[in-house]
Amino acid sequence: MISKRIKGIAGSKTLEINALAQSMKQKGIDVVNLTAGEPDFPTPEPIVQAAIEALKAGFTKYTDSSGIPQLREKIADYVSKKHNVRCSPEQVIVTNGGKQAIFNCLAALVEEGDDVLIIDPCWVSYEPMVRMLGGNAAHVKTSFESNFIPSVEQIERAITPRTKVIVLNSPNNPTGVVYDAQLLRKIHALAIEKNIFIVSDEVYDCLVYDNDYASMYAIAGGENVALVNAFSKSHSMTGWRVGYLVAPIEIAKAAAKVQAHTTSNVNTIAQYAALKAFEVDTSYMFKKFKQRRDLVCKLLEESGFSFVRPSGAFYVLVNVSEFDDNDVNFCTQLLQEAHVALVPGSAFNAPGFARLSFATSEENLIKGIERMRKFVRR
Ligand code: PLP
Repeated sequence: MISKRIKGIAGSKTLEINALAQSMKQKGIDVVNLTAGEPDFPTPEPIVQAAIEALKAGFTKYTDSSGIPQLREKIADYVSKKHNVRCSPEQVIVTNGGKQAIFNCLAALVEEGDDVLIIDPCWVSYEPMVRMLGGNAAHVKTSFESNFIPSVEQIERAITPRTKVIVLNSPNNPTGVVYDAQLLRKIHALAIEKNIFIVSDEVYDCLVYDNDYASMYAIAGGENVALVNAFSKSHSMTGWRVGYLVAPIEIAKAAAKVQAHTTSNVNTIAQYAALKAFEVDTSYMFKKFKQRRDLVCKLLEESGFSFVRPSGAFYVLVNVSEFDDNDVNFCTQLLQEAHVALVPGSAFNAPGFARLSFATSEENLIKGIERMRKFVRR
């Protein structure tokens, strides 16, 4: 009954650990959960108020399936100024989170049998999306030794005559690494030379701690690249489901068709809330995340863990291979014995590692890492 395409897609490996963590919590066990994929701040009050006002004003009907014109204009203006690239509202589609922006764009581009390059470790949904569309996910492996940064030669070696798209994600989930401008320039030049389109997932661009952020969209001047972003991480709006795709006009039009015939517009109230987000200063969240990044790195280092220091996002990929050759076992035992939940690296094509999220309180981070330290020394 079930289609081959969907049958071929693996279930989420993170779910088992999460289910176990939940059931332990329900039994009253004090579990320190370091698996969060979302900021722990409430959505800023002015955004919530804007939603309430939109409701009261009766903005409860369908909108243009690509989004309300004011929001598309605002996004186009914001992206143009931020990245110094001229971008028009027609190039913008307001989507159900960054996730739907990626899917719409891939659906507009990928033909049966096309290769889509994905850099490992990678976010969990790229490959399932590619496979749902009949494409092949071709993985470019990066290593701990190379700080999880791909080389342009590695990418070139992975290219086949069927390579249509490369998906880039910097700042990266799960590693927190941020690619520098020089690498992005080289990748863009290669993509142009080989006629490969770039999907640049920049949903963590607001969380870059060390150097100025280099955006592929900016570096490419918007040429041969689609930008994916969202209000999810930047404004702690994960549940509102508002993201956007900015693409060359032809691709934007094709991606808009995908959205029009699948979900129609993003929830109207959430679109009005997102419009307000442009007026809200979220630097307090950034400061907290940076402090936590520094704290977590210091504690992990003092506890003898090896990891690549993240320059962005809110994750650290901890090397657990020296303690257990199976990261799923490591995470299961860590949860059962020390009551700390991490996501096994295998979920991100990073076996031997575990992802620690610092989107939680400092108190939790201190407690969690202390338990990890005791666990590996037991
Ligand atoms: N891209 C990456 C790398 C992510 O980590 C996530 C969410 O965790 C998304 C995209 C999707 O974000 P959204 O919740 O806006 O759909």
